[in-house]
Amino acid sequence: MSKLKTKDLICQLSDLETSLNGFSFEELSTLEAKTLKNSFNRFKTQLNDQIFGTDKINEKDFFTNEIISVPTPSQDNKLIAHVSHEIRTPLNGIIGFTNLLREENLTEGQFKKVEAIQSASYNLMEIIKEVLEYSKLTAGIEDFDSVDFNLHRLLKDVMFLCQTLIVDKSVTLNIDISPDVPNILIGDPSKLSQILLNLLGNAIKFVEKGQISLSVVVTEQKKGTHMLQFSVKDTGIGISKEQLGHIFESYKQAEKDTFQKYGGSGLGLSIVKEIIEKQGGSIAVTSILGAGTTFKFLIPFRKGNIQNISKNKPKSISTQKGKELLGGTKILVFEDNELNQHLISEQLTKWNCITHVTANPKEGLSLLNTEEIDIVLMDLKMPKMSGFEISKSIRSLQDTTLNQVPIIAFSADFTAQDQEYCYESGINDFLLKPYTLNELMIKLLKRKKERNLTQASLRLLKQETIISIKQKKETVELSSLLQECDDEIEMLEELVRLFKQNIYEFIGAVKIAISNKNFEEIYHASHKIKAGLALMNTNDLKRLIVGMEDGAKNTELAKIELLFAQFLVQYPLKEAQIDKELKKLKKR
Ligand code: ADP
Repeated sequence: MSKLKTKDLICQLSDLETSLNGFSFEELSTLEAKTLKNSFNRFKTQLNDQIFGTDKINEKDFFTNEIISVPTPSQDNKLIAHVSHEIRTPLNGIIGFTNLLREENLTEGQFKKVEAIQSASYNLMEIIKEVLEYSKLTAGIEDFDSVDFNLHRLLKDVMFLCQTLIVDKSVTLNIDISPDVPNILIGDPSKLSQILLNLLGNAIKFVEKGQISLSVVVTEQKKGTHMLQFSVKDTGIGISKEQLGHIFESYKQAEKDTFQKYGGSGLGLSIVKEIIEKQGGSIAVTSILGAGTTFKFLIPFRKGNIQNISKNKPKSISTQKGKELLGGTKILVFEDNELNQHLISEQLTKWNCITHVTANPKEGLSLLNTEEIDIVLMDLKMPKMSGFEISKSIRSLQDTTLNQVPIIAFSADFTAQDQEYCYESGINDFLLKPYTLNELMIKLLKRKKERNLTQASLRLLKQETIISIKQKKETVELSSLLQECDDEIEMLEELVRLFKQNIYEFIGAVKIAISNKNFEEIYHASHKIKAGLALMNTNDLKRLIVGMEDGAKNTELAKIELLFAQFLVQYPLKEAQIDKELKKLKKR
């Protein structure tokens, strides 16, 4: 981590500690307050160990503004990812607890202190998020979306957000979109919002009185691609010629006192530049000290189609309604961090859920057996057995009611690799810490609905005898296929690879087709993979697909959804069996 970054982190941490010390825990005397204080102390030690090693360092040195030398980001991106993860986990607990504390009967003074803790924690989290994001971007492991989105709506939302950031200043915000800019584009809308919020956010920070304008024009158009130029122009303090040359370098702020005056991490513009360049674009800046600054960036976008924009965006739900729907849901939580254990059970109990929390895989699996669990929440990083491994054990249980329980993973960091592991381990959904209560509620409600559907589907499947649940589990057998490949294991491997690829394409195509109610596409996609399923001797999966084909012919959406949900649960198990069988054959 760079010197400046470490310094900022420590300043923020110091702020957080001051707020915590100002809080009278005796006065509040709740269990939460004590746990919060203990957690902070543990957090500090952990942070100390993570950044400086386990050698004890002087408390005084730790909180001075002295610049401390530690490795630079380019030297060790992995270390940053690790440190960030370790810090985010306990910090998530602190933020969560302050959320709960706010709902207690606090005096005005206590409320203000809780707010101060919260604000310091959020600032710290923000810096950690930026460090992590920057290290991911430079390491090339950040994913970019390619989806259809409504540019005008996005710009409207960004401008609205920026308007709310202008407090006590006479600054006007203008927007000008050229008429030839397409409304629907294909690209990464959240990254575009991030860039604009960053540039406009900076402009708002550095303009006391005056104007900020955003304009969008098309500079080039070929083969369905529009090169869009966004300009963010302000009449603020400007940047000196000398500083201008370094403005996109990481951890740089124009003047030495910028951090004291305006805060920030000096990472915003380097992240912005990386994001733009990774999308095939470029950014430039011009500025006159005392007169203002203009940032211009170009990004190529393909024109999109309004019909592809999902109408099923996550909606926010009223807490009361959510609480009614969630009441009585039995939730099993695998979590090792004590503070987070306490936090999650408080949160879930408030929604009248029946909650069991454990860090012990054995105990958890036995609770799953005895308590008729509806949903599992799984922390991915645990000491004895990782969340991935526990999920795999759940999925390999014999009992179909147990092995199909929805699993929502949560973690303080989530990479593309983790996403793959989640898929392999049969995890259905994911929550990034720190999550809001609304996000948690939405995920739980979605999974609960699906769980009900799956159980209904099991009943339906039993009735229709499309698949007999009690039927002996079919095992994968690939040796006859290997014989057909003239005993060439490479050829079999290639077949398996193609098979998997076809299945992933099938899953993607059917997901979209279901949301568009495109029965023809569902029929074709199902029909296409039937041969592959037969080839791999996965007849149980094939029966589900035949059912889907049938459902598509008769436009029975509910039936298709039920069978597809079954397929999504069963396929990862089958894939794991195929991999195992392949390994066995390779060893022969
Ligand atoms: P930070 O996250 O600290 O805001 P940035 O990378 O976004 O860092 O910006 C780096 C520095 O560039 C800022 O600290 C500020 O000194 C300068 N800067 C950025 N945008 C503007 C602007 N619109 N007007 C004046 N100075 C700016």
